[in-house]
Amino acid sequence: MPILRSTFIALSRNRPLRHFCENSRIGVRLSSRFIAGMQISDALRVAEAVNQQGMAVTLDSLGESVTSEAEAHLAADIYHQLLDLIAARKLNANISVKLTQMGLELSPALAETIAGSLVQHAHATGSFVRIDMEDSKVTQITLDIVRRIHAHPDSRGSIGIVIQAYLFRSQADVEQLNADGIRVRLCKGAYKEPPEVAFPRKSDVDTNFIRLGCMLLESPSFHGLVTHDEAMVKALTAFASEHGIDPGHFEFQMLYGVRRDLQRRLVQEGYKVRVYVPFGSDWYPYFMRRLAERPANVLFLARNFFRF
Ligand SMILES: Cc1cc2nc3c(=O)[nH]c(=O)nc-3n(C[C@H](O)[C@H](O)[C@H](O)COP(=O)(O)OP(=O)(O)OC[C@H]3O[C@@H](n4cnc5c(N)ncnc54)[C@H](O)[C@@H]3O)c2cc1C
Repeated sequence: MPILRSTFIALSRNRPLRHFCENSRIGVRLSSRFIAGMQISDALRVAEAVNQQGMAVTLDSLGESVTSEAEAHLAADIYHQLLDLIAARKLNANISVKLTQMGLELSPALAETIAGSLVQHAHATGSFVRIDMEDSKVTQITLDIVRRIHAHPDSRGSIGIVIQAYLFRSQADVEQLNADGIRVRLCKGAYKEPPEVAFPRKSDVDTNFIRLGCMLLESPSFHGLVTHDEAMVKALTAFASEHGIDPGHFEFQMLYGVRRDLQRRLVQEGYKVRVYVPFGSDWYPYFMRRLAERPANVLFLARNFFRF
């Protein structure tokens, strides 16, 4: 499995294959399991369908690490359109934004200004902006930017952050964010981090995920718990019920197309579920990372290809 995983990571960076896949019918058809489509209209169609199944949505316009200010503004324009369309169609949806897509690597001030205007827009339309967490080089700057935006009266409550359970620092960050009243999405973490900053062993990451999840459940704010792992779901729902925490006080978050059986079951059991719906023409690296995460999905896609 590790060989397959590194193969998919390598393929995710292969430019000729990316060009072929993004422009071929087969590539688009295969990726439709995990990606809503290329256009905003595709994302809205999927969001409506997911809402009809009793689940909320967070929309991700795919792309990261822009190389010019103009590109950052173009990426933000798509999110501004989404916020207007979410409000106009009364969708149960918010947006997930990466600061590197808003120009963080060009200028932190640029990313902060762009993210700040998205959050004010979300605040005005009753929506919410989740700032995704990227690799550990940008953890501190991402936290600083989110705190400053959250402190603004026209933004307060309409911005949240992501905390990664694999990082050693995360417990202290959760304590501070709980004290500040900032909403957290807790995930295990998806980047390759050195052992100086992150737990190398998956079992330690899982233990920390449960520890931090319990701290979030006990806080007065509404938080999101990312997992497709039944053991995590079981531990956290058991903690909530033992401590009299209402199922409406938190939500589980999962990826579009992943563990749809678990998503449905949790809704039937009365839990809130939010589905992360990515869309856009930059889908290839995202798709390959999903296959790297779980190479068994290749077999799954192959089996289902002719049934789409
Ligand atoms: C809504 C959402 C937002 C996210 N935001 C961020 C972010 O901002 N920053 C960041 O670093 N990471 C982010 N991630 C990625 C996340 O950190 C990883 O996907 C993480 O490994 C998920 O943990 P897990 O418990 O689902 O799965 P793992 O611990 O990887 O796997 C545990 C079990 O879950 C099940 N499972 C996991 N993946 C799949 C799959 N693809 N198909 C079928 N079953 C599966 C399997 O049973 C597996 O054994 C996000 C993920 C989601 C769903």
